[in-house]
Amino acid sequence: MALGDGRLHYTLHLTNNCNLSCNYCYVNKKDISTMSIGVAKKVVEAGASENGSTNIAFFGGEPLLCKDTIYQAVEYARWKERQSNCRFHFKVVTNGLLLDEEFIEFSRREHIFIVLSHDGIKEAHDKNRVDINGKGTFDCLSEKISLLLSSHPYAPVMMVVNPDTASYFSESIKYLYKRGFKYIISSLNFTGCWTEDTLDALKREYQKIAEFYYEKTLLEDKFYLEPFETKISSHIKGENYCIENCTFGKKQVSVSPDGFIYPCVQFIGEDAFVIGHIASGIDEVKQNALFRANQEEKESCIECKIRTRCNHYCGCLNKQTTGHIDRISPVLCAHERMLLSIADRLAHKLFKKRNAMFIQKHYNDIYPFLSMIEDSILSKGKS
Ligand code: SF4
Ligand code: SF4
Repeated sequence: MALGDGRLHYTLHLTNNCNLSCNYCYVNKKDISTMSIGVAKKVVEAGASENGSTNIAFFGGEPLLCKDTIYQAVEYARWKERQSNCRFHFKVVTNGLLLDEEFIEFSRREHIFIVLSHDGIKEAHDKNRVDINGKGTFDCLSEKISLLLSSHPYAPVMMVVNPDTASYFSESIKYLYKRGFKYIISSLNFTGCWTEDTLDALKREYQKIAEFYYEKTLLEDKFYLEPFETKISSHIKGENYCIENCTFGKKQVSVSPDGFIYPCVQFIGEDAFVIGHIASGIDEVKQNALFRANQEEKESCIECKIRTRCNHYCGCLNKQTTGHIDRISPVLCAHERMLLSIADRLAHKLFKKRNAMFIQKHYNDIYPFLSMIEDSILSKGKS
């Protein structure tokens, strides 16, 4: 059974349970629910019913609390691949504490992408990423990072910057880079209590990170650092770059443990945003209505010169920060203005240098593809 009028990719919320208790966590953990293998298999069947590739991300809470479901879902998907003309690509987003040899070996064999959440240096990480007793998890994660990178050298790391960790931001990026991560994705906790002072600290840190990006690019080191890559691309690729990236339930959907389908992660558990169920399919009228509502330009942004490059189109982010998909948080607005001007100055400097790495990364459309092949060859060589 196909679920909608086009190919969908899925984020499976295997559980809202977690072995951590991060201070900025938005997951509602009051009533713990866990996805059954039956629901996960239904998602696989939906993907298999449309020939071609389907991406499935295992998400939580902490998805590695449900390793058996992951093993069985992947095994079922591989069986489906042998029966029909479909292909699955898997990703796990984890806090890392439950990574072990067995899971690493499984993910290597099945080509599962592991994305680690980590906030950088100990001072930053341990402020918010704490276990259920309030103890920081930096030390426990150190050996997990070595285990992960020894078999997945191109595993991405995702970090969250909070107001109380803003001043550690550049040191944290450098630390993760030094540990061996080549794909570093940072994002802000926009719901935090940002003040003028913490936003100023953030700006200074972005400037230091831009310097770091500049130096590493001149050395032709291969790395990706978000949000700089997206903001630079949005300048080069022009109009509507950001809006096209937010498909809000049209291409990527989130599935709750009980099988309800939502446009994105932030809406899990909100009845008003249910766009279907894995057993009965997508309600296309609702899906399209939400998609159109999200695409409508916000009044406060109509005149803004950088609106096509700004993340205010992200309904999920708007919901998280203001409670409404069509209202923009002032922190988001301030952040986008700050970041774009720093990213543009950085891009201008590198362009003036005619830096080969920079030109390849941002002007060669097939570079991400070539880069992926190169990563895969290099990581096979290491395993
Ligand atoms: S690891 Fe993720 S789900 Fe778990 S508490 Fe932290 S932010 Fe929440
Ligand atoms: S920078 Fe602010 S005003 Fe401009 S598009 Fe973004 S949110 Fe709207």
